[in-house]
Amino acid sequence: MPIFDFKCRQCGHSFDIMIPNADKDKVRCPECGAPHPTQLLSSFNTARPGPGVSKPAPDGCSGCAAAGTGG
Ligand SMILES: [Zn+2]
Repeated sequence: MPIFDFKCRQCGHSFDIMIPNADKDKVRCPECGAPHPTQLLSSFNTARPGPGVSKPAPDGCSGCAAAGTGG
């Protein structure tokens, strides 16, 4: 179940809550009970390249690895 971050438009209280995606409209501020708080974008919820994304292997020249230093 995803965790959503909200900020109350009434009192400014920010909170996160774990709810199904379909229940986001039912969220109320736990402090003042105001409905429809502003949804904040969670840092872990935004699209970004994660560790699962593998980069293509660099196409290095085989000669570089074989060649030693100095010289
Ligand atoms: Zn509130």
